[in-house]
Amino acid sequence: MATLTCLWTAAMEMYDQYGRHIHYLRISLTDACNLRCVYCMPEQACFRPRRALLQDDEILMLVQAAVELGVDRIRLTGGEPTIRANIVDLVRRIAQTPGVRDLSMTTNGVLLKELAAPLAEAGLSRVNISLDTLNPEKFHWITRGGHLEDVWAGIEAAEAAGLTPIKLNCVVTRGYNDEEVVDIARLTLDHPWDVRFIELMPLGSVAHFQREALVPTQETMERIVAELGPLQEVSGDNGAGPSRDYRLSGARGTLGFISSVTAPFCAECTRIRVTADGKLRLCLLRDVEIDLLTPMREGIRFEALKELIRRAVWHKPWGHGLPEGMAPKERAMSQIGG
Ligand code: SAM
Ligand code: SF4
Repeated sequence: MATLTCLWTAAMEMYDQYGRHIHYLRISLTDACNLRCVYCMPEQACFRPRRALLQDDEILMLVQAAVELGVDRIRLTGGEPTIRANIVDLVRRIAQTPGVRDLSMTTNGVLLKELAAPLAEAGLSRVNISLDTLNPEKFHWITRGGHLEDVWAGIEAAEAAGLTPIKLNCVVTRGYNDEEVVDIARLTLDHPWDVRFIELMPLGSVAHFQREALVPTQETMERIVAELGPLQEVSGDNGAGPSRDYRLSGARGTLGFISSVTAPFCAECTRIRVTADGKLRLCLLRDVEIDLLTPMREGIRFEALKELIRRAVWHKPWGHGLPEGMAPKERAMSQIGG
């Protein structure tokens, strides 16, 4: 019986050719957004028509297939996932899929004031909220029109709804918020939040700007240590996250550093992505994609869909090409789902 159990477990897991255990799926629910962050998308961004995007039942079918292949952790992202019609109902249906152990969302937080409680009730476990600045004018500038008070209200609502631990994502962008990292890090002294500083990655048509505005993690850490004192290393989130985590002395929350450009975490990568238009993307920073939407609309059998995903995952690339100056060209971050 023990042997049988063991074989069953093995059949439910997905590995790539390098032996990485792939069990984390990020699904982009839309390529559209209610903000226009300078580092993410061009000001005049065009979005795909709805019919070109995965419909709810198609997302559910992909979730079911992924879970049967061993995926147990799902993150919903975008674009801005909260602007998708029927988001609460969709979250409920995904959360109810047997095998989904952890369902989270990355959001700009603008709509969380109204949505946090229903999303939590529907089965969402936690949220990552983007927060690049504490200054309302700067927020307006970085997001090309957003209101920081909406995000604060969203953070409060998320906390009240129990969507915790709350992670705050801060993309450090030279000339925009690099001088604010100390103030943002200071938030963790009084709040049980995990603030994560993310290196800017070059993608799509804004890659040139992103390369020039990159602030290496080392520089961000040095600024923080100089003002707030030494950082004590803490263990990361189940080994499944890319961030290196620390705590300031006496702080309630933690500081994470995601150094995709200067210290890639490819060897530990456990994730795959599905874009809002139904392409399986094996690496955020490589343009190779497998079309899942077309075969699904042509009526592919469920077992054949699983086999398509499993085979594709086997060929997940090792490492990205940023050190050699190669950046993905085909899509902006908002079209993949960060
Ligand atoms: N709209 C949601 C949000 O802003 O949180 C979810 C989608 S957004 C693309 C996901 C994450 O990617 C956000 O934390 C955002 O700050 C980050 N991001 C966007 N463009 C990036 C880039 N070029 N490099 C690194 N992170 C980026
Ligand atoms: Fe929208 Fe998120 Fe991109 Fe900002 S980072 S433009 S909120 S998708």
